Amino acid sequence: TVRTRVAPSPTGDPHVGTAYIALFNYVFAKQQGGQFVLRIEDTDQARSSKASEQAIYDSLHWLGLEWDEGPDVGGDRGPYRQSERTELYRKYAEQLIVEGKAFRCFATSEELDEMRKEQMANGEPQKYDGRGLRLTDEQVEQYLKEGKPYVVRMKIPEEGSFKFNDYLRGEVEIPWSQVDMQVLLKADGFPTYFLANVVDDHLMGITHVFRGEEWLNSAPKLLKLYEDLDWQAPELGHMPLLRNPDKSKLSKRKNPTSVNYYRKMGFLPEAMLNYLGRMGWSMPDEREKFTLADMIDNFDMKRVSLGGPVFDIDKLKWLNGVWMREEFTDEQLIERMKAWAYNADTMKTLLPEAKPRMETFSDFAPLMGHFVSGLPEYDPALLTAKIEETQVRIALQYLIWQFDAAREWNKDVVFGTVKETANYLDLKIKDFLQPIFVAITGKESSTSVIDAMVILGSDMTRARLRVALN
Ligand code: ATP
Ligand code: GLU
Repeated sequence: TVRTRVAPSPTGDPHVGTAYIALFNYVFAKQQGGQFVLRIEDTDQARSSKASEQAIYDSLHWLGLEWDEGPDVGGDRGPYRQSERTELYRKYAEQLIVEGKAFRCFATSEELDEMRKEQMANGEPQKYDGRGLRLTDEQVEQYLKEGKPYVVRMKIPEEGSFKFNDYLRGEVEIPWSQVDMQVLLKADGFPTYFLANVVDDHLMGITHVFRGEEWLNSAPKLLKLYEDLDWQAPELGHMPLLRNPDKSKLSKRKNPTSVNYYRKMGFLPEAMLNYLGRMGWSMPDEREKFTLADMIDNFDMKRVSLGGPVFDIDKLKWLNGVWMREEFTDEQLIERMKAWAYNADTMKTLLPEAKPRMETFSDFAPLMGHFVSGLPEYDPALLTAKIEETQVRIALQYLIWQFDAAREWNKDVVFGTVKETANYLDLKIKDFLQPIFVAITGKESSTSVIDAMVILGSDMTRARLRVALN
């Protein structure tokens, strides 16, 4: 049976690109009565976080892309989180070494820096020079005895080229000279993406892998590993990357890329999925509005077009409006809107903020409107009432970077980051808070802006700060 998967790394916001890739893998599997698996690729321990993993689950659940097996729901090919599978990767790395398909390299990072410097000075391309291959068995024995740290790298042919059949692109040829002797196991014993991905796709019985085009160049390494391990490789297909309206790769600098942002903005998950389904694909009758079930019924992977699909928020908004008007009764919309923001939980959070400033109920909406609206509108001159424009820009940009990198979101993190940024830029915190206030609330005074950022969440906060910067 067909088995597909999505394999995100929990290293940041739940990316729209992850949802897009998940959708196509999901639809492909479901159409053929197969299974769809969620695997968490958290081998980069320094960048992975539980919060990010949870955000991946939440965003896919919200969209309605349910997985048959995964870390949270289990399954008989688990565990489905790579950090729980390290023994397996080590075992196969060992096997590859014994069979002469991979080798240990004991070079220190200083030695490799030196190597690259020399290559640069000689005008050669900078690339690992295969020094580990030249060690004698005795040297290796000796180093191992000394406990010298090492990585395991894969052997790559020196000549010729690698050809494979991409499910979407047909024959692709990549010369081996462009492929490096990839590290498979790092000095800390953790695998790299390549080894872990191959071992897992094989052991999890994955038959088809559809993933972003950015991975196309890694295909030779992956497929060579399948060969080296004597395993049958899954079919690989590389999907076109989503683009900004200016055709550059979709990036958070130009468009919000976190699914959470779209959820906070009040998009319907049905419309969002519909729009993602139109990224590089269309219904046979070209109709713009369709459900996930329609997509499954009519799906044909071969009709994915490879020209970079543009993720255009205005088009998404239009489609969302159509969905609201045509697919939902008023009763249903009221239910959705209540669940979105006008629910008891939100009121419980907001009321204590508003109460000290309220005399009547009618004071509530003006005070709290920025919690249930998207991007506030205001006169940009308000942003520079206390600090001059260049400084405001530097401060906002710096703050956005800090927030982008924050791995948790709570009052301590938000306030700490604001304070640190103000200190760093030598601004009085009160002055610095003024433009932030305007960017977040659209007003010059309201309830605490720090609390507002905490409640609005990281995605909406950063989106509003970015709007202020533009
Ligand atoms: P940004 O450019 O906004 O900083 P990023 O490139 O850092 O985003 P990653 O963390 O590298 O995002 O990617 C997260 C996931 O989203 C990966 O699985 C990646 O394949 C996917 N992805 C990132 N950008 C795109 C895109 N433009 N189209 C489709 N998928 C994407
Ligand atoms: N962990 C990789 C990512 O985040 C998976 C790529 C793949 O699907 O092979 O994109």
